[in-house]
Amino acid sequence: MIFLMDEAMLNYKTILIWIIAISNAGLTEVAFADTSPPVAIAIHAGAGTISKEDFTATLELEIRDTLKKAVLAGYEILSSGGSSLDAVTRAITILEDSPHFNAGRGAVFNAQGKHELDASIMDGSGLEAGAITGVHNIRNPILLARKVMTDSVHVMLMGEGAQVFARAKGIEFADDDYFFTERRWQQLQKAKKEAKQEALYRPETMDHWMSTVGAVALDIHGNLAAATSTGGMTNKRWGRVGDSPIIGAGTYADNRSCAVSATGHGEYFIRATVARDICARVQYQGLDLAAAADAVIHGQLREMGGDGGIIAIDPKGELALTFNTAGMYRASVDVEGNLDVEIYNSE
Ligand code: ASP
Repeated sequence: MIFLMDEAMLNYKTILIWIIAISNAGLTEVAFADTSPPVAIAIHAGAGTISKEDFTATLELEIRDTLKKAVLAGYEILSSGGSSLDAVTRAITILEDSPHFNAGRGAVFNAQGKHELDASIMDGSGLEAGAITGVHNIRNPILLARKVMTDSVHVMLMGEGAQVFARAKGIEFADDDYFFTERRWQQLQKAKKEAKQEALYRPETMDHWMSTVGAVALDIHGNLAAATSTGGMTNKRWGRVGDSPIIGAGTYADNRSCAVSATGHGEYFIRATVARDICARVQYQGLDLAAAADAVIHGQLREMGGDGGIIAIDPKGELALTFNTAGMYRASVDVEGNLDVEIYNSE
């Protein structure tokens, strides 16, 4: 077998393509040069005001490991020719299965001590989208959002209607115990104590880390996808809907501009239509992705008083991981195959 490789490309992309080439090679001769179309992926698991002192070394390591596992799982799908929709779905299910993030298993509690889960997904190739809001006991809410996109004529299903749809579509349910984490329960108790008067209640000061999860990706066909999943905000009022399941606010994807997934104080992200605004600036103003993301996250959103961040990708595979908080859990693999896993602003 003959393999041709530029030494500078000894990174995840190369390693994955090598593995695929070797396993496909059998006994025949393979000449390999990387002329494949660009693929890239970014994920987030929330933005907030956490500092290094808030972590034990073990917790920080576990969080970084899970981010890495999720982004590489998505990247592997892209590298083997899979779709951006499959890549973002896979990355998100891994984050939803972790107790550390505010989505699926690690979701925060609402004011009634219950979970109300939101998720959305969008396909940039045809502007198809699916979303669910206010569901409970759904193990992987992103899989249900995707079913709404593919198996219904609607974009968003809510509450009990979404639960019935989930059962009909064979979506996996889990008991309340599965979703109970002591850390989230204690966050609720603290928030309740501090929220003496509802008029003074500011959720972002109760739970300093908004660890909603999201993913954006570009596949070899040039298709963009975005997905977001969350438990919302600690001590939220029963029935409250944040930005994460709202197409155009928390999630957006359009092959003509970009794909975006957001995290932050949802009430601001809804009013600023953050995800769509970034893509609109790319599409109509001709801004590059980073400039568009900066204008919205450090400009419009900040002026309104909104905290949070986004991950975004454009059709060339350019990435933007932009936030106006002290940190954002994030990871990416760019078009060159370079892996980054970061938490703090200063990394
Ligand atoms: N954006 C989410 C919401 O407002 C919260 C988060 O990002 O953690 O529901």
